[in-house]
Amino acid sequence: MAYPYKKMTDEDFAYIRSVTAGDRVILGDDIPYEYYHDEMPEYGIYRPDLYVEVLNKEEISAIMKYAYQENIPVTCRGAGTGLAGGATCKYGGIMLSVMRMNRIFPVDHKNQTITAEPGALLLDIQAAASAEGLFYPPDPGEKTASIGGNVITNAGGMKAVRYGLTRDFVRCIEAVMPDGSIMQFSSNVVKNTTGYAIKDLIIGSEGTLCILTQVTLKLIPQPTCSCTLVMPFKSLEECADMVPKVLELPFVPTAIEFLERELIDIVERNLHKMFPVKEGNAALIVMYDASSKMELDAAVSMAAEAALANGAIDCAIADTAERAGSVWAVRGAILEGMKADSVSQEECDVVVPRSEIAEYVKQAKKIASHYGLRVEPCGHCGDGNIHTELLRGADQTDEEWKSATHAALTELYALSKKLGGQMSGEHGTGNGRLDFLKEFVGDRMIELYKSVKLAFDDKLILNPGKMVEFN
Ligand SMILES: Cc1cc2nc3c(=O)[nH]c(=O)nc-3n(C[C@H](O)[C@H](O)[C@H](O)COP(=O)(O)OP(=O)(O)OC[C@H]3O[C@@H](n4cnc5c(N)ncnc54)[C@H](O)[C@@H]3O)c2cc1C
Repeated sequence: MAYPYKKMTDEDFAYIRSVTAGDRVILGDDIPYEYYHDEMPEYGIYRPDLYVEVLNKEEISAIMKYAYQENIPVTCRGAGTGLAGGATCKYGGIMLSVMRMNRIFPVDHKNQTITAEPGALLLDIQAAASAEGLFYPPDPGEKTASIGGNVITNAGGMKAVRYGLTRDFVRCIEAVMPDGSIMQFSSNVVKNTTGYAIKDLIIGSEGTLCILTQVTLKLIPQPTCSCTLVMPFKSLEECADMVPKVLELPFVPTAIEFLERELIDIVERNLHKMFPVKEGNAALIVMYDASSKMELDAAVSMAAEAALANGAIDCAIADTAERAGSVWAVRGAILEGMKADSVSQEECDVVVPRSEIAEYVKQAKKIASHYGLRVEPCGHCGDGNIHTELLRGADQTDEEWKSATHAALTELYALSKKLGGQMSGEHGTGNGRLDFLKEFVGDRMIELYKSVKLAFDDKLILNPGKMVEFN
């Protein structure tokens, strides 16, 4: 094993320039501060020794071969929108950005797939599929994330309730290994039982096993119509109680999200995005896609009836793109709103069985208030992935905030485990949740994680100190 790493020298810098280009390499203090952290600076601020923007897999391969030989850590960077402190150089070394590798190849209609380089943006993949009458359903909140980042973090998002996660849409992957070799994982086939399912292990590996250089994604026919319903309730707990009732209906919803009024106020106040429904202390947002108007109308009227029968104050139907857009714009702006409204935030991203959502929400609020923390549970309640946002008040000292969040998170993760849940539903482990992982999964599981890491990266040079720590 390779800790401590080599401190990079002028000779190393010259080599990286020689296999890329001088104007795509930045050194030391000249590296912009934004590359010291991802969307959660709270999870660590680390300066890389060298930042390089690569153009193709051959450059990545040359860099990795050299780093492997010289024992230099390398961290791959996508768009830097991660919420786990993943795309940071915890042990210095090379930050390798793939954002210039952003080609999207023509849609393969016969296989209904699209192939892209890792730096292509999610929104551009969605648009390219749509332009050909097809649909790429994964819909994480941040559309300017890279597709490589989405795959390697197995991004979830709003539409997971109906369509599943990024993993469910990955046909095959091309990647550069830590020793520089270039490998293919699966091919453009619908099923595959050849050997271990390593492609699925790479998806969600958070840049710790290999560097993704190309991905082929499954597409499906576009739904022809969709509708969003807003069900205001007296409380978030009542919204949570409504979730299983929506899921029992004979139509599969595309998305089910919930928001408390306080959070809506935060977005309205700070970002001036107005939520169209004013009633209630909390709102359940339910979306349906369908392939015919008749199917959509049936789904919408059943859901509206169920909502009113189960305590909803009203059921607003946003059946035009404009009205639906104003609902989803507020939902999509939560993180930005919270950032504007608090000194800092802690992103707790547990996922619990759907049957336990209401219980989790009730207990989570008690835990947070016991530690004097402002808490906003929100998000993907349709799949049990409750973003339990802890917000720091202006009067809290660093020490108070740190110890209160640590204590609250310890209890929130224990609660999730007790309810049969997991520590993270989609944001991942990265650097930010590492402290809690061992307690959650146990020693034997950590040993397995270490064996997996070593099987790919025996010198521990790829994104070290994330997902699993060897120190
Ligand atoms: C407003 C907002 C909303 C969000 N909503 C969601 C949501 O609904 N669901 C969800 O799951 N996430 C969400 N996220 C988190 C984030 O957008 C996703 O994790 C996204 O997949 C990260 O992609 P990225 O390109 O920004 O990756 P980065 O942040 O650059 O990197 C993330 C990790 O992937 C690794 N990595 C990146 N590219 C590669 C590659 N080509 N090869 C190997 N490793 C690589 C990095 O080393 C790092 O460990 C949200 C973030 C924001 C800011």
